[in-house]
Parts: sequence; structure tokens; C-alpha cells
Amino acid sequence: MLTQWIIEKKRDGNELSDEEIRFLIKGFTEGSIPDYQMASFAMAVYFEGMTSRETVALTLEMMNSGDVIDPAQLPGIKADKHSTGGIGDKTSLILAPLAAACGLTVPMISGRGLGLTGGTLDKLESIPGYRTDLSEKEFFQTLEKCGCAITGQTAQFAPADKKLYALRDVTGTVPSIPLITASIMSKKLAEGIDTLVLDVKWGKGAFMKTIGQARELAQALVEVGTHMGKKVRAVITDMNAPLGRSVGNALEVQECLEVLKGGGSADLRDLTVELTAHMLELSGVFLDLGKAREKVSQCLGNGVAMKKFKAMAATQGGSTDWVFPKAKIQQPLLAPTDGIVVAVDAELIGKACLILGAGRKKTDNTIDRAVGIGQMKKPGEAVKKGEPLAVIFSNDRKNMDEAFPLVGSAFELGTAFEPSPLICEIIG
Ligand code: URA
Repeated sequence: MLTQWIIEKKRDGNELSDEEIRFLIKGFTEGSIPDYQMASFAMAVYFEGMTSRETVALTLEMMNSGDVIDPAQLPGIKADKHSTGGIGDKTSLILAPLAAACGLTVPMISGRGLGLTGGTLDKLESIPGYRTDLSEKEFFQTLEKCGCAITGQTAQFAPADKKLYALRDVTGTVPSIPLITASIMSKKLAEGIDTLVLDVKWGKGAFMKTIGQARELAQALVEVGTHMGKKVRAVITDMNAPLGRSVGNALEVQECLEVLKGGGSADLRDLTVELTAHMLELSGVFLDLGKAREKVSQCLGNGVAMKKFKAMAATQGGSTDWVFPKAKIQQPLLAPTDGIVVAVDAELIGKACLILGAGRKKTDNTIDRAVGIGQMKKPGEAVKKGEPLAVIFSNDRKNMDEAFPLVGSAFELGTAFEPSPLICEIIG
């Protein structure tokens, strides 16, 4: 078999065999297939797509390129959630301890954001001492003790995806549904889970700009997971406005603590409750979504989820004094007129956060955990002239001056607001 024959076959729109896909992924992971051939293959997939059979084969090969957790090693029903990512999306930090409080085991292996803002690991690392590099043994110990653990991908975990994702990122081949599907599912299925809930986001602050694209991705993800014998459900959610009231690593952790204490922003709380309830129902803990919601709300209200979060943070080395890095400069953005907030553009908020240093422009960039945007008004809220629409946090005057007008242009004020649902569709 020659690599160029496989590339040509895909370039011409033909279906690859399982053997051809295995040859490609094995060779790429081992280093016998060079980056230029793999990049060319990724571009062929970008234009020609893949059949369901090919996507399943690609997912399996990528999953088996490294360690796969044996589910028998983990206690209870193993469940996880994955989000395709969005601005201010911090649900994992609340959901993992919340699902554990409701009786599930949540072995969450998360990533770092390469988009506009930090990922789950970056957020958690704003808790001084919190370790996201647990060994497999430490990961299992944390799960046994707390029911949940959130850590990073080790070098032995889906290495084919790690290599391919880095290549796709610099060759314009990220937005391909089969490649995204294989990338996400190879990592999630290697966690040894029984059930998976996917939060597939669409809108200005998401990968998928239209609900149609999100639906297509959701269907592909559910199909692959189901084919591999897992219970998988996708929830399609709106990401036109940021989730919650803050964006930026330490600011987002503080917002999660507010929700875990029973308060916080309603959209963040409601979405987290809903996703956790789906995990419980899909896992068979409750036969009815309404009953699952009741249990989840109870565990959020009575402090049990907060206790789980604290236990997880402490077990992973984090300080539970909840003292966070603070930015030197804080500047409020004031409403220019009276009005109702009719839109907050998530993409512009994300771009402003990237300028402030809350995200990475390149993989090796360091993140400033203190910076970001907080106290944001939400769509539908009324404001008076001169009242803050948001507060911008920076450690650098130049960054503040560049980000400030961008944040201003993200807020649209009007006289009438038409609410749209946060949860749009359920697939699977
Ligand atoms: N997230 C992933 O893990 N992989 C992709 O390809 C896109 C988003």
C-alpha cells in the first residue's frame, strides 16, 4: 500500500477501506508518514468528506493509537460531557462535581482552548496548585475518592489526534465534520465511558456558525458513538451571546463557584442543570428527565456539588481558599444611552479576551489567568445611561485600549428584545 494512492483515492471522492485508514493513522502516529502527506489527506477529506463507515474506522484507529482506559477499572456508571466550545462556556467545572454528587463517575479528560479563550484546563489552573497533569494512577485515585476528576491528555492518550489536530490547525482543515467527529470521539471513547452527552454549539461564538452545521456535526457524533456501543446524546445550544456573565480564566472559575453556591447567572445554571439531567437519564439513573432535573437542582442547592468540587480541587493539589489572580487595571464599559441589551456578540467578546491575553494566538503562548471581561449584562436586561455594561480586566494598558472598543461594539442596545431558546434541539 502506498500513502499517495490513499490520498489520490480520497481526492477523487472514493470510499477508503478500513485497512487503508489503519495504514494511514498507524504510519502517521509512528512517523513513517510525513506531515505533508497527512496534510494533503486532511485537505482531501475536507473537500470530499467521509462516509459513516470511514468516520467510524478513523475514530477507532485514532482511539487505538494510544492508551484506552479499561472501564472495569472505574467504579459505577461512567459518564461524561463534551462541548464543542464557546465563549464563556465553563459548564464542565460545575457539571463534573454535580454529576458526581448525583451518583455518576465522571472521568473527564479535557483540553486547552486554541480558539479565542482558554479551555477547561486553563480555567482550572487559575486555582493555585491545581494539577491538570495527573498520572493514570492519580486519575483513578481522584475518581474513587471524589467521583469526578478533570485532567489533561497524557502523551499516551490518542496521540494520533494530538498530532493530526496540530497539523489541521495550521493547514485550514479544522472545519471538516468527519475530522472533528473522529477527533472528539477518539478522545472521549478512550476514557472508558458508558454514556456521553455532547453540547454542540452554534452561533457567533461557536465553531459551527449555523444551526444546520451544528445539527450535521451532532448527527455524526451520535452516529459514531452509538456504532461503538455507547449511549450518546447531543444537545444543540445557542452560542450567539457568551454563556454567563464573565469570560476569562479566573473570572470564570469564580462564576462557577457562585453557581455551586446556589447563585450565579441563570443561563449558565440552567444549561448545566439540563446537561447533567441528560447524563443521568441517558445513564439510566432516572427514567424520566423531569425527575433527573429535580435531583440535579437539589444537589446544586444543598451544597453537595460544591463539596465535591472542593474535594476534587484539593485532591488535584489545588488551594481551596478560592484566592485568584487579580488584574491591575479594571475599567467599566458604560451604557451610552438607556435601553435594553438586545445582543452581545460572543465572537467580539472572545476576540477582546484574546487581545487581553485570556487565550492563545499560538499553541505555545502563555495565558494571563487574571484578565478578561466580567459583570456583563445579558440580552434582555434593561440598562440606564452611564450604568456598566461590563467590566474589563487587564494587566496591560495597551491591551486594554485595544480591547475596550471591541467590547463596546459587542453590545447592542435597543428598545425591544425577542428572546431565543438556549437549548435548541436534542439528537439521539
Ligand atoms: N475539538 C476537538 O477536540 N477536535 C476538533 O477537531 C475540533 C474541536
